[in-house]
Amino acid sequence: MVPHFRPLNRRHIMPPKILISACLAGFNVRYNASSKTVIDTTLQRWQAEGRLIVCCPELAAGFSTPRPPAEIAAAANGAEVIANQARVIDALGEDVTDAYLLGAHLALDTARLHGCRFALLSDRSPSCGSQTIYDGSFNGQTQPGSGVTAELLRQHGIEVFSEHQIAALIERVQLVE
Ligand code: SF4
Repeated sequence: MVPHFRPLNRRHIMPPKILISACLAGFNVRYNASSKTVIDTTLQRWQAEGRLIVCCPELAAGFSTPRPPAEIAAAANGAEVIANQARVIDALGEDVTDAYLLGAHLALDTARLHGCRFALLSDRSPSCGSQTIYDGSFNGQTQPGSGVTAELLRQHGIEVFSEHQIAALIERVQLVE
């Protein structure tokens, strides 16, 4: 007997999932125990549909809240940290590079586990920053660049957006839905 296969149509294709920084999702997980909650009706719908995968790379790596802030030293960026050409240093002078790399790899594992093609990450963070990061001086100076997690996700084909690019993210997601 010939098995009967129903043709795939759009209803059989899983809608894309989106990895989201826990602090953007409303959790008080930042270094100073605050959040950066974003309010958006499309994000709320995605959340109701189970399409937002919440992740905090730093907590996943074992940091607690609150914790000393950290920056990528010497105006370097996440790509240089991954290439072992730069370090992440916290405000007490502690080298926390290994933990930041661990957090990035755990975030990548989470994204892969859930099939996330997109990520919405909190900008300026040495982990999640995707457009802007601090320059390592701890003087509030920023520079264009990516944090360690955002960079690693991009290197593995995940499209990363910051909270300033929600409209662009929604447009991209709708294109592949
Ligand atoms: S590591 Fe990312 S998710 Fe966690 S507090 Fe920092 S910016 Fe938010």
